[in-house]
Amino acid sequence: MKPNQWEFMDRALEERKQGGRWRSLQAVEPVDGVRVTRRGQTLINFSANDYLGLSKHPALIRATQDYTQRYGAGSTASRLVTGTYSIHQQLEDTLAIACGWEAALVFSSGFQANATVLASLLDREALVLCDRLIHNSMIQGILLSRARVLRFQHNDLDHLEKLLQRAAHRSPSRVVIVTESLFSMDGDRSDLSRLTHLAQQYGAILYVDDAHAMGVLGRQGMGLTAHQPGIDLVVGTFGKACGCFGAYVLCSAKIREYLINCCPGFIYTTALPPGVIGAIAAALERIPTLEQERHNLTQLGNNLRAQLHSLGYDTGLSTSHIIPVIMGDDDKTLRLSHWLEEQGILATAIRPPTVPLGTARIRLALSSAHTGDQVNQLLHALQTWNG
Ligand SMILES: *Cc1c(COP(=O)(O)O)cnc(C)c1O
Repeated sequence: MKPNQWEFMDRALEERKQGGRWRSLQAVEPVDGVRVTRRGQTLINFSANDYLGLSKHPALIRATQDYTQRYGAGSTASRLVTGTYSIHQQLEDTLAIACGWEAALVFSSGFQANATVLASLLDREALVLCDRLIHNSMIQGILLSRARVLRFQHNDLDHLEKLLQRAAHRSPSRVVIVTESLFSMDGDRSDLSRLTHLAQQYGAILYVDDAHAMGVLGRQGMGLTAHQPGIDLVVGTFGKACGCFGAYVLCSAKIREYLINCCPGFIYTTALPPGVIGAIAAALERIPTLEQERHNLTQLGNNLRAQLHSLGYDTGLSTSHIIPVIMGDDDKTLRLSHWLEEQGILATAIRPPTVPLGTARIRLALSSAHTGDQVNQLLHALQTWNG
């Protein structure tokens, strides 16, 4: 064994430390839908993606227990072997109908779905045109396929159109537009109607990640891609507003057949466990009824943004329940995060490379379960900070 074969690791870790980019895991214990404890201190959580507080909902917990009792702790095999139970199929049928799509297919996680679905959709001759700010999981799928990729400026569809006009010169096998409906770190939306038109006009495939809109936006809260013809594939997750775990693809019946036959990340992995399927089913049953919660969330967001602006904070392009407080400087962002923790607020610093250089931020994620008092406590802490 060569003595220096682990040197790459030392170098990578040293680089992270030097650049102030060190990441470490900090355990918390959940208290309720919006509070956790860390090192004995109770904190109001403004960093979770549990936008409707469903992760602690009694109906979801009961369904998890019930399905586990009836079907076991694990699903025993991949979907194509013995891992497809009637509950998996029912869930896909329910989801497709609720979202107004022809077909749905469940995956293990959003990360895994994006990485594997994109990889099986692309080849080396394909051309990907993606938004500059798409989630890392989509980048992994694109890299895995070795397709050619060009990024357009964030939500700049004039730029996208220029790239589409030039795409023909490269004679790609196909052109795939990849973007998000509601951006995870900025809380702004893309223009799905114009994206759909562009895709149609230029004969491109349109792939949209709906992770942060599912449960919160769109008809009956089923996401911004619900009942939206003209999009070819949607990936969404059950790990955010649905409060549980797992992911899904919405697509045509043909694409579903293709993924079942040709997508390694569907074929070669164990099906989601029954308990998780139960929780998802319970979440999907509830979500259409949560109009009041969605209304609260919108109000909380509008109010928080307005207050942050009056305190002189920069919330970027946010128009939703995801509100970045953009500080720019990495150290300053970390100091603010620490200050907030001292004040009883959990608000994690998000730094490059998760976000572009010079845009380090505190990403505030609201939940319909947050109270006005809790938001005021956050605002008070931000007001009294003098970093
Ligand atoms: C969180 C996230 C994912 C990954 O979903 P998981 O189910 O957590 O793996 C994918 N896309 C976007 C935009 C996300 O924010």
